[in-house]
Amino acid sequence: MTIQSSVPTFADRHIGARRQSDIDAMLKAVGYDSLDGLVDSAVPDSIRQERPLKLDSALSEVEVLNALRTLAGKNKTAVQMIGQGYYDTVTPPVIRRNVLEAPAWYTAYTPYQPEISQGRLEALLNFQTMVQDLTALPVANASLLDEATAVAEAVLLMRRANKNKSARDGKTVLDADCLPQTIAVVLGRAEALGFEVEVAHLSQGLPSGDINGVVLQQPGVSGRVWDQSTVITEAKERGALVTVAADLLALTLITPPGEQGADIAVGSAQRLGVPLFFGGPHAAYMAVREGMERTLPGRIVGVSRDNAGVPAYRLALQTREQHIRREKATSNICTAQALLAIVSSFYAVYHGPDGLKAIAGTVHTNARTLATTLRAAGWELGSDSFFDTLTVRVPREASKVISAAEARGINLRRIDADTVGISVDETTTPETLSAVSAAFGAGPVREAAGFELPGEVLRTSDYLQHPVFNTHRSETQLLRYIRRLSDRDLALDRTMIPLGSCTMKLNATAEMEAISWPEFASIHPFAPDSQTEGWRELISGLEADLAEITGYDQVSIQPNAGSQGELAGLLAIRGYHSSRGEGQRNVCLIPASAHGTNAASAVLAGMKVVVVATAADGTIDHADLNAKIEANRDVLSAIMITYPSTHGVYDADVREVCDAVHAAGGQVYVDGANLNALVGLAQPGKFGGDVSHLNLHKTFCIPHGGGGPGVGPVAAKAHLAPFMPGDANSQGSTGGATGVPISASRFGSAGVLPISWAYVKLMGATGLTEATKSALLAANYVASRLNEHFPVLYTGESGLVAHECILDLRELTARTGVTAEDVAKRLIDFGFHAPTLSFPVAGTLMVEPTESEDLAEINRFIEAMITIRREMEQVASGDFSVEDSPLRNAPHTAAAVVSSGWARKYPREQAAFPVSSLTQDKYFPPVGRIDGAAGDRNLVCSCPPLESFEN
Ligand SMILES: *Cc1c(COP(=O)(O)O)cnc(C)c1O
Repeated sequence: MTIQSSVPTFADRHIGARRQSDIDAMLKAVGYDSLDGLVDSAVPDSIRQERPLKLDSALSEVEVLNALRTLAGKNKTAVQMIGQGYYDTVTPPVIRRNVLEAPAWYTAYTPYQPEISQGRLEALLNFQTMVQDLTALPVANASLLDEATAVAEAVLLMRRANKNKSARDGKTVLDADCLPQTIAVVLGRAEALGFEVEVAHLSQGLPSGDINGVVLQQPGVSGRVWDQSTVITEAKERGALVTVAADLLALTLITPPGEQGADIAVGSAQRLGVPLFFGGPHAAYMAVREGMERTLPGRIVGVSRDNAGVPAYRLALQTREQHIRREKATSNICTAQALLAIVSSFYAVYHGPDGLKAIAGTVHTNARTLATTLRAAGWELGSDSFFDTLTVRVPREASKVISAAEARGINLRRIDADTVGISVDETTTPETLSAVSAAFGAGPVREAAGFELPGEVLRTSDYLQHPVFNTHRSETQLLRYIRRLSDRDLALDRTMIPLGSCTMKLNATAEMEAISWPEFASIHPFAPDSQTEGWRELISGLEADLAEITGYDQVSIQPNAGSQGELAGLLAIRGYHSSRGEGQRNVCLIPASAHGTNAASAVLAGMKVVVVATAADGTIDHADLNAKIEANRDVLSAIMITYPSTHGVYDADVREVCDAVHAAGGQVYVDGANLNALVGLAQPGKFGGDVSHLNLHKTFCIPHGGGGPGVGPVAAKAHLAPFMPGDANSQGSTGGATGVPISASRFGSAGVLPISWAYVKLMGATGLTEATKSALLAANYVASRLNEHFPVLYTGESGLVAHECILDLRELTARTGVTAEDVAKRLIDFGFHAPTLSFPVAGTLMVEPTESEDLAEINRFIEAMITIRREMEQVASGDFSVEDSPLRNAPHTAAAVVSSGWARKYPREQAAFPVSSLTQDKYFPPVGRIDGAAGDRNLVCSCPPLESFEN
């Protein structure tokens, strides 16, 4: 027996195929004898970076957690009463540990394969139902990125949906009592798109002129709750559409927007159980009235049926989304906030209507208690009608009162030198109320008297009557409900998820640990800088590491998804051109193969999309590129390229493409979603890019969460740095960047940044580079092994792929009738999540194994694919028709397989246990193949009554 010579490093744990014998076996299959030899062939010399990355050397898990403890210790927790869209809340431990911190939930992918996603789809349907009930509007999505961007989406939705002749091209009017960060984000978006926004005090009536849409806030940022029905009616009489940004907890007590006549309701679900997280991630919501569902942005879960007629969930109306509609999409949003929406949905399931109402009632009573106490002490209040937030006039004493509160461990909101805001929440205690009173010098707390909400804003209608919100009251029940749902799903904790372009790699437990530590999770985004030193040190450290990795000069982690990073980058380009008197440059070249978000983001940045053709070998068609550059020379703003291309190949001529665009005065946007093929080997900032976004939820280990959270940092060269995202809340600073704010809070989805920070520290420069090399090896191994069964569509000049490969099924489909979708569904019977289906080329599967998969798991996948290929041959040779094949009838439920009526043309064993290893570990999907089209024709997107599930 040999004694291991060294203790495994973290990189040894992160990388799946680490044993030399495994690496050698994989190399042999690809035809190389060293990993470096393979990498040198695969990655073109012209882009290789000159020197290794300069990063701190790798730390162990223990060391990283200690370092995070030190950073956490530099943050100061406080009682957070700043409000302004963010409120402290209690995340029930059963939900924190078993959802937020549970790999079955956080490692799941977006539910595009609905048969293996019924659990999270049900949880998201619960979220939609909760939003629909609380807002009294019939259709809600799940979910949007944050409240400010949700309002921006609502404004754009109103501009698309308003067909009234005079109102259509009118201005958008925002109430002055909207959240300031909301106003800032909307103004930024409007500027790029060239429509007028007016901010006015709408409780005093509407401004004159044509109005496309109106946005109200309920309660207002001042805390005021008022009857908005009159202004809503007037707006609609004048042809405008109306959006109300509403607080879901308040809506348990006050009249919902739907009942006041609003067309759209938006807001944040944060205070329903999601920690403050220093600003995010939190789920935003949007609900609309009937007739607007087809223009609603974001994902909608709907109910359909499977091939046995059993009700089943799946994403509805996907043809509105950017991945199909590109520049005509309803929005550029792709990754949203699924995990946080799920947390909020379980919070509502656990508390139910009575529990939520009791929480809201306590919050309201505590706010009234404070109001009574402060008024008795002579302080003047902004409004007597409020839910949870008071605005107090303190002439010239705001600083004094705020300091006095801070000395008592309480953060209040500084509105201006004469005004202070106080927001009560679920965590407010009697001691807190006494301390606030003392900070105002107001003596002992008095019993609440007066300040009842006026009758016209009191809610009388029911909500959350569905059984799911009235069943799981004990912790045992909720625990089992959570477990039951997660058992229906396949996530990374059970199987490889070989999704090309999505980089579903390990989300290490050590990386996840810090996110729920109170010193990170309980910090308000607008807390004073003196309390957030640890956060800011972590963030600036991560930004610096990402700048080093990408070869850019400046990074902003503010964008909270890849799509938002794209928008931020394109707006930076726009700002740059304008600053040089070249505002006419508004054409964005986008290759035909680009991710749909690229085109959708370009439109949001006010650009015109011109598509560049793809050559037969998958690279950019140079003749077409040159023609498009020539035709748009004076108006060329940018090209957006993905590198390695979405075809999973390193195009050797990327520098020439960049040079040609630069020579015409354009800027180069490199979509960095595929950075997992570059880290440590090549830097977009050095091979021609001016700006990129990265997806920390792909390459840098933030888990996918079933469709979010994400972080999409934007990285740029120095000349674009001044145009990087600014701060929507003017009270902070972003290190001089004065560009358009992209998210509501300065640091976007800060709460999940410790994950990527830890990953970089755990891996170090060497580990990160080895991860990239291992990802290349794994992809090339899959390509080599499967090529004879499913031809690999594109390879680079060396015959190698990058970190993913496209398997071309089109010829096989033509010959056998078996589609790529059939293969995707059949893989479920083998316990696999499908590869990326029909992107970027229809009729293909794109496989990305990542560095984290071990050889045995990769071989299990290859075996499944080869077995499927044999079944395709069974169709070709007439053993059964495609309609009667196990492929078309996949996936197989346990019910189907044990049915005494089994009449298929293939044995049950082949259906359920096509390879022998499955007898030990068999996953049965809860439903069979789902008919998506039927669900779109008859849209049901709230919890169906339970009877419909009885069969
Ligand atoms: C994932 C991806 C995006 C979009 O990122 P989101 O975080 O989902 O918005 C953009 N481009 C490419 C190539 C991607 O793979």
